[in-house]
Amino acid sequence: MDAAQPAGEVAAAEAGGPGQCPGPCPSSGYHSVTVTQKTEIAHCAWCGRAFARSGSQGRRARYCRRSHRQRAFEARCLAARMGLASGEALVDADALCRLRDGLYVLESALDDVEVDLRGRPGPEDYRRAFQHLYAAAAPLRDACVEPAAVLTPPAAEAG
Ligand SMILES: [Zn+2]
Repeated sequence: MDAAQPAGEVAAAEAGGPGQCPGPCPSSGYHSVTVTQKTEIAHCAWCGRAFARSGSQGRRARYCRRSHRQRAFEARCLAARMGLASGEALVDADALCRLRDGLYVLESALDDVEVDLRGRPGPEDYRRAFQHLYAAAAPLRDACVEPAAVLTPPAAEAG
């Protein structure tokens, strides 16, 4: 069982927190957790990456790791200091532009494919459409725009 669900073990170990380690932990500091409940794939509220979340009792994990929960907290504090409304965040303008560019490429590829697959498309048409869409979507796989958790010092911007 424990070898069959390594993702669940990792998620439980990273989530940490009280109540998740059922027995006394060895003096080595290594925490061993047996996961018997079903795990689900969730997306981190900070980085957006998928992670395995166990359906355990209590609050459900929203972040893939503790550092991301901390950075989300810091970003909320910064947003509040800047007078932003709840749910608003500061983001890096260049990162936002790169994400928009990637989404534009994907949107254009969707338009191309919709035109190419009109009529009576054959298997080769679908194969080419998939390749075109994949090429447009692949660069977005690791795309990430994180809210700013700290302000960039003005001196760094001037230089
Ligand atoms: Zn994360």
